[in-house]
Amino acid sequence: MPPCGEGYGRRLRMLSRVGPPPVLIPGFVNAHCHAFQRALRGRTEGGDFWAWRESMLELAAAQTPELVRTEYAAVYRELRSAGYTAVGEFHYLGLAEAHAAVEAAAEAEIELVLLHVAYARGGIERFRQESVAAYLHEVEELRAAGVRVGVAPHSVRACPRDWLEELGRHAAEHELPLHVHADEQPREIEECLAEHGLRPIELLDECGCLGPRTTVVHATHADGHELDLLAAAGSRICACPTTEANLGDGFLPVERVLHRGIALCIGSDSNVRIDPLEELRELDGIARRQSGRRDVFAVDDLLAIGAANGGSSLGLEGWPRIRVDDEHPQLRGVADVRAALVAGCSADVLSA
Ligand SMILES: [Zn+2]
Repeated sequence: MPPCGEGYGRRLRMLSRVGPPPVLIPGFVNAHCHAFQRALRGRTEGGDFWAWRESMLELAAAQTPELVRTEYAAVYRELRSAGYTAVGEFHYLGLAEAHAAVEAAAEAEIELVLLHVAYARGGIERFRQESVAAYLHEVEELRAAGVRVGVAPHSVRACPRDWLEELGRHAAEHELPLHVHADEQPREIEECLAEHGLRPIELLDECGCLGPRTTVVHATHADGHELDLLAAAGSRICACPTTEANLGDGFLPVERVLHRGIALCIGSDSNVRIDPLEELRELDGIARRQSGRRDVFAVDDLLAIGAANGGSSLGLEGWPRIRVDDEHPQLRGVADVRAALVAGCSADVLSA
């Protein structure tokens, strides 16, 4: 006869408390994700960023709400098992697909902020709204449906000045996060200088897009003045080191960013890798290579970049914690589990 009853349940609960308490840490926050790009990993690498972008556009064109619903759920489950418990999906595939992404996140049990993208020109037709008013109507429809949203001008390539001004105004008025790609590639900067006589982050500043709820994604080639503008506005930078390496974007000027007190967060971006510890280690590795020192980042600062800073970037107040398996071989014999996580572990040591 199977054991049953209140006494058995109590004994079981007591048994489950035997042994050291689990090591819990805040869940990692993936502040910049394009889930559909996961399918491009290891495929058609192309000669440079712009060649990769052609493959990406082809893949984007083929997306449907049904595909997004199933494929994003699979990617979000991967994020979840790698220790990310919240994600900012930088979404430029249309409104029906936005709702499908929200459903996928619910299925995978990951907190999602939909960074709904404004796209005026370039790219492919499905990315584009006919006007900035039409875009803002989509944002408000999503909000009305209870979706957590952010305003996301895709880039200064995709949005002209009058769109940027309106988007900056709307985000400030409604206290929404504003995320935008900037300074990922030198060509983008040259084109912005030719069109506006300004570098991308200078243009964002002029258009009212910088503020404490703003996150600039990449900022790889930001110059000193652009970094000064980010610092003055209290804006953040989202670094996506594994993607930036894969696409040949370049190195974030980490020490110059830290020197100005600009907060950093991380994103898995193209999802060529899904591992928050690897993103943080890449970031730390860049800083070490650039400075010739090993102590540019404190361990707690790196872990905050992976978690709390991402939460602030997305306007989140809470997201689930995760468990560290301190009996995993990767952590065998280490004196400081938190330090060893970033220095030498993969996400295999993390679990929900
Ligand atoms: Zn991106």
